[in-house]
Amino acid sequence: MNFEVITLFPKAFELINNLGVITRALSKNLINLNLYDLREYGEGSYKQVDDKPYGGGPGMVLKPEPIYKAFESINKLPNGKTLLMTPQGKVLKQKDLLRWCSLDQLIIICGQYEGFDERVRCLADEEVSIGDYVLSGGEIPAISIINGLTRLLPGTLGDPGSLIDESHNSSLLEYPHYTRPLIFKEMKVPDILVSGNHEEIKLWRKQKMLERTLDRRNDLIYNKDNKNLPKSERKNEDSNEMMKFPMGNEYYFYPDW
Ligand code: SAH
Repeated sequence: MNFEVITLFPKAFELINNLGVITRALSKNLINLNLYDLREYGEGSYKQVDDKPYGGGPGMVLKPEPIYKAFESINKLPNGKTLLMTPQGKVLKQKDLLRWCSLDQLIIICGQYEGFDERVRCLADEEVSIGDYVLSGGEIPAISIINGLTRLLPGTLGDPGSLIDESHNSSLLEYPHYTRPLIFKEMKVPDILVSGNHEEIKLWRKQKMLERTLDRRNDLIYNKDNKNLPKSERKNEDSNEMMKFPMGNEYYFYPDW
């Protein structure tokens, strides 16, 4: 996959050269990263990229011309998309990464300061926020997307099995992990994990996924009897999204995660 990033701070992306599996994906050519330094597309001898907002108010706004020039200089591939980083966008979910991972090209536009001129929005296929908080620039959001997407690409992770049960791959959070030693500061690894009984371990993990999600993120799943949900959001009992959990009789439904 080709990532093309329009940014005023290309140096921020040096982080990608120190990110373990992501760095390896880069060296294996599973991904390419091309940076478009907004300053180089700036206006006049000062290479101006920002200006004061019309109507007054604090801060500076990225001008549209340099962003358009940088965007137009990118060699577009047919199977590509353009994302605009903004806290006003749709909040990023794992399902978005899954949706994008078959693309050949992802163009990412990073804002700075107060943001960008409104006329930049029409370059984007999607506006993406990485959460309901405000950062100083779109570089960390862009790196998050590149990171999350790259680990989904075949060949990046040593064992692609890691992707199956992990949190947010379905509406359940992942089960707890333990490694050696067996006892650490009087905390012991659950007996079942050292029992060697793989069927039981599978059931235990499934149950823990459910318990953990109910405990921490019960917004991600719901009981069929959950009357708090509008009828339209309660799933059909025959649907294959229905799931029975090993240590209880209740059925839970995956929402549209
Ligand atoms: N004044 C803007 C925020 C500007 S923050 C507003 O109120 O909407 C500066 C830039 O940082 C943004 O243009 C965007 O590119 C990036 N940014 C900040 N927070 C972000 C978030 N949660 N998700 C994605 N991008 C974000």
